[in-house]
Amino acid sequence: MQNPLRDFGPVAVATPLPRRSRQAKVTWGSRIVTVGGDAPVRVQSMTNTDTVDAIGTAIQVKELAQAGSEFVRITVNTPEAAAAVPYIREQLDRMGESVPLVGDFHYNGHRLLTEFPDCAQALSKYRINPGNVGKGDKKDKQFGQMIEAAMRWDKTVRIGVNWGSLDQELLASLMDANSQRAQPWEARQVMYEALITSAIESAKLAESMGLNGDQIILSCKVSGVQDLIAVYRELARRCDYALHLGLTEAGMGTKGTVASSTALGILLQEGIGDTIRVSLTPQPGEARTQEVVVASEILQSLGLRVFVPSVTACPGCGRTTSTTFQELAKQIDDYLRAQMPVWRVRYPGVEGMKVAVMGCIVNGPGESKHADIGISLPGTGEAPAAPVFIDGEKALTLRGERIAEEFHALVEQYVERRYGRS
Ligand code: SF4
Repeated sequence: MQNPLRDFGPVAVATPLPRRSRQAKVTWGSRIVTVGGDAPVRVQSMTNTDTVDAIGTAIQVKELAQAGSEFVRITVNTPEAAAAVPYIREQLDRMGESVPLVGDFHYNGHRLLTEFPDCAQALSKYRINPGNVGKGDKKDKQFGQMIEAAMRWDKTVRIGVNWGSLDQELLASLMDANSQRAQPWEARQVMYEALITSAIESAKLAESMGLNGDQIILSCKVSGVQDLIAVYRELARRCDYALHLGLTEAGMGTKGTVASSTALGILLQEGIGDTIRVSLTPQPGEARTQEVVVASEILQSLGLRVFVPSVTACPGCGRTTSTTFQELAKQIDDYLRAQMPVWRVRYPGVEGMKVAVMGCIVNGPGESKHADIGISLPGTGEAPAAPVFIDGEKALTLRGERIAEEFHALVEQYVERRYGRS
């Protein structure tokens, strides 16, 4: 028999390209979160509480951190908000939550960071939008005041350009220059150039004022997938600052999730992006933590990070008319996610566990054998028995009305036995 592998080399394994950015640090107390270089791609999020409500904001920050957000950004827009920041920090510290806080500044950040030193100190990173630091003569001066605060308190800054608040003077001058070209660029290409120039020139200005390059993270957010890809490819080509990645105003639900996953997935696979945020508009009643769940799933799907045990579930089809396996898959997924804040500490390595919940005999046993623990539920017309596979071997068969509860208990026992320290 001919060797079937004779004519072809091995199929290339797909992995994200390495990143080449320099590394920044975001710290609070003894907690140091590295960003860029060989650090893991970080997950960020932002609160939607009124920052003046220090307790409410601290509670939401903690929820976001427990869901996996490695920094949390809060709006600092008024003197009252700036005054509340140290209390939010204090409250978090009291709750045992050391997640670094990022202050989001627009228009008056230079004043707030100067007049509220406790706020400047309590924050771990400042987000500066070069399009909103001031106009004309005031622009560089006010930008400089924010950079001075960063140097004084030894903080990292994100120079975060956004196409919704792009520096209009810069855009106008690039538009003028473009009109002089023999073959003018498309308007959107000029806009890309303005975004990239605004970010890089602002970073260079900050460095010329004395801020270290490794205290600078850049972002250039737009809301179109193809626009984001074009801008970040070029931004990454032109500089080696750590990059924060996100599709701004991604939208609600499925649309926002798919658009963010598509754009971020493509860029991360190309080795672009050191920290991400998924800017989802929460649906009525939806938890703010959903944006953290989506961001974590993007990184986990690409094999860049592992945050929570994964649940493999089939989509179901005409072979299964019951919803038992869908309900069990959701129940197990929710349960595993909810346990993670405690399990991370108690069961090191549990985030890499794979669980399968399958609908019938066609792929059920095969997929379950690939998982650490899996169950193949009976499809329509099959005998009412659900084989359970543990570490690739059939371990037992569940029957009767309590299959879901019994499988749940088996998962708990498996976690304790395999990942428990004792
Ligand atoms: S495992 Fe069975 S129920 Fe699930 S999609 Fe495949 S054939 Fe359908």
